Formats: sequence, C-alpha cells, structure tokens
Amino acid sequence: MLTATFLGTGTSVGIPVPLCDCSVCRSSDSRDQRWRSSVYIETPTASWVIDTATEFRLQALRANITRLDAVIYTHAHADHILGFDDLRRFSSANGDEMPIYASPETLERMAHTFEYAFSGEARFPGYVQPVPYTIEGPFMLGENEVVPIQVEHGKIHTLGFLIRQQGRPILGYVSDCKIISDQGLHDLAGVEVLVLGTPLKMSRFSHLSISEGLGLISLLKPKRAFLTHLSHDVSHVETSKTLPKGCSLAYDGLRLEL
Ligand SMILES: [Zn+2]
Ligand SMILES: [Zn+2]
Ligand SMILES: [Zn+2]
Repeated sequence: MLTATFLGTGTSVGIPVPLCDCSVCRSSDSRDQRWRSSVYIETPTASWVIDTATEFRLQALRANITRLDAVIYTHAHADHILGFDDLRRFSSANGDEMPIYASPETLERMAHTFEYAFSGEARFPGYVQPVPYTIEGPFMLGENEVVPIQVEHGKIHTLGFLIRQQGRPILGYVSDCKIISDQGLHDLAGVEVLVLGTPLKMSRFSHLSISEGLGLISLLKPKRAFLTHLSHDVSHVETSKTLPKGCSLAYDGLRLEL
C-alpha cells in the first residue's frame, strides 16, 4: 500500500513563467499551473517527500502533509532543494530532527547551501536539524525498500528512486534525467507505476524529451506511466491527446493509490 501525491510537476522556473504570455502560461486549466517538482509518499510504516521544491511550504499546506519521517533528495539543483528551510515545523514534530537521504555529492552541496543548519550551529528548538544519511545503495524507510537509480542529468549525476514493498516494484520516480544507467533500467523494468521527467517536446542535453521518455516507457513496460517536470511547452489538454494508452501527464495535486 502506497499513496503518491504530486506536490509539484513543473520544470525549474515553474508555470506560469514570469513575463511569458504564451497560451499555457495564460491557461485557466489548473493542470497547466505547475509548482516545482516533488512528490509526497505515504505508506503505513513511513511517509516522506522526494525533494523539497521551492514552494515546499505551500505544497505541504495544499496536500495537508501531517507526517514526514524523512526527506530524500534526487540532486541539489535549486528547484529541488530551496524549500529545505520549510522543514522546520516537520523537524520539530520529529523531536527536532529530520533524516535527510542523498548522494555524497548532494549532501555536500546541501551542507554548503544551508550551512547554518548542517553546521550544527542553529540548534535552538524549532529550527530544522538535518540528520544526513549518505545513500550508497538500497535502504529501508519503514517496511519500504528504496532503491537508488543512477541517472545522468547533463553534466551531473542525479538519483531516481524505485520503491519496493515485499520485493514488489511499486513506484519508480526519475525526475531530472537524460540517461538512466543499465542497472537502473534493469531495476525499473516492469515497475507498476513509472514517473519520468520530460520538460520539453524537443531534446536537450540535460533532460529527456517527451518522445525520448515515451521510448523508455515502451522499453520498461510499466503498467502505468506519468510524465512530470513539465515546461510551458506542454499544454495539459493538447499534449495528453498525443500520449499512448497507459501514459498520462502528471499535474499538481494528482494522488495515486497504489
Ligand atoms: Zn529540476
Ligand atoms: Zn509561457
Ligand atoms: Zn536538475
């Protein structure tokens, strides 16, 4: 049992984009309005977010997040970490500590960006107190196995995540990605639900295009697939018409019960 709530499904600038008057940025369809990408996972034994996006406080209020046992980071690009300070209340609720899981590179960059929290200086009650855990392989959150997926994202490496329950691959989440490693492709094959970040229709060096994403989906054969990290290139209604069966665009607030 697992519930995934998309807290944000937008690319790094968010949609609408300031100073843009394209049809998607002007759209009144709420599914075209996208905060920065993040997902909230709830299970009977643990609940966590993948990334703390720029709008994390607003996202947590909108999704009514009342329990947060940990945070997992894909990488340290601004759109995925800048909501970090909004973990304060959740840290307090956990006895003033918040477990943070990330790769060694991401933890290093987080410790640099949020030096006041990671240095241990800001230790008064009510402040976020990160407890870093280096991801070096699969790890457990409650009774869920979280398997890191090695991914190339332009010039840097990021992590995607596969969640397994009792050995069953339930959810794969790979937001910022150009190339998934061979081991990652092996781990994700046959997953129930696959979420892939595909900001644009055209190909870029750092991200999958929509057609490249669809190619991976047909290779990995999930039961259902969702595209996220979307730009203003992507109209929800128009682009949805072009997607194959079993594949949909994610949107902010979408909740999946798996
Ligand atoms: Zn991103
Ligand atoms: Zn626009
Ligand atoms: Zn990124």
